[in-house]
Amino acid sequence: MDPATWRYGGNTPCLELTAPDGTQFILDCGTGLRMLGNRWRMPNGGGNPETHIFVTHYHWDHIQGIPFFAPLYAENNEFHFYSFRSKFLGRDSLKQVFEAQMALPYFPVDMSAMNAKRKFKEVEGGDTFTIRENKVTARWLNHPQGCLGFRIETPAGTVVYATDNEPGDAKLDESLRELAAGADILINDAQFTPEQLATTRKSWGHSSWKEGVKLAREVGAKTLVLFHHDPDSTDRMVDSILRQAREEFDSVFAASEGMVISLGSTGDNVQAHMPGARTTLRREAQFRAKVSGVTEGGKEFQEETVVRDISLQGALISLQNVPQLQSELQVTMQTPGENGSQSSMRLKGYVVRIDAGTEKGQIAVGVVFTD
Ligand SMILES: [Zn+2]
Ligand SMILES: [Zn+2]
Repeated sequence: MDPATWRYGGNTPCLELTAPDGTQFILDCGTGLRMLGNRWRMPNGGGNPETHIFVTHYHWDHIQGIPFFAPLYAENNEFHFYSFRSKFLGRDSLKQVFEAQMALPYFPVDMSAMNAKRKFKEVEGGDTFTIRENKVTARWLNHPQGCLGFRIETPAGTVVYATDNEPGDAKLDESLRELAAGADILINDAQFTPEQLATTRKSWGHSSWKEGVKLAREVGAKTLVLFHHDPDSTDRMVDSILRQAREEFDSVFAASEGMVISLGSTGDNVQAHMPGARTTLRREAQFRAKVSGVTEGGKEFQEETVVRDISLQGALISLQNVPQLQSELQVTMQTPGENGSQSSMRLKGYVVRIDAGTEKGQIAVGVVFTD
């Protein structure tokens, strides 16, 4: 895990969509697919014996999770794959990708270990088809070697997935506007900053938050999700991109590892949350706290409250002793209770850095909490 990207996450594209009729969709097979497969094995982890998987294109970041998707090795599962015929691969493009990825010496087992039923369907820009109660539309996007965008209309609302797409081609821009028209959730490529897109990253096949906002406004999309963050963008950079986008559009989220977005009944705002199942350590505690921020309506506020159920990543501790790097520290903290009572919180910390302290005779020790 890269500490600079632990909040938004560092996996490559993979989304799961569950329609009201129970139909399960997976959008792209990036490295996130491995975690998705593992989650399905947990109780109530979701998963469906019949799943429809859309692959937008064949660049590594969109296919590299396939061999690591455990449900593909279970024979009771059935997967329907949808992707286009690449002129570089010809017939059965995606099937060939599977075989190439699983060929020796790239992977320890061959295709015969993949016991799930797999069906492949070729789609191309302009195609429309239905899967149970859901209507799917595919359109070409502007990206090197081609890429498809998908519009999925479910009885609960419409989700448009348009990643790996560069604005600037009049015909394809218009096609994208048609694809995204009135979407409840528009997931759009926001890899680069507007400055990068205009200069050093021009014609790399990606977009920016500003183009996403412009598109969302033009087509009347309700919620915009900034997607496909640059691998070199740290969490703080994505924070800044999101902040700028929120100044110009009401409902914007930055895609984030594990984020869940639910479509309510018509007229309701979409709800987004981040399930706590991440690697962070959670503890019950009671800290008095002053909280200030901005309301949904854009007003600044400040209030005093009590923090409970805190999740901890790490801490900077001032010490006189110099602990060994990569050793374990026991840290016991006093937590002042709500009515003067005190309790303590015991944690195990793993020493990740040692710096000169701000006070004489003290050093600053960085720990990551592990237990
Ligand atoms: Zn790509
Ligand atoms: Zn990509």
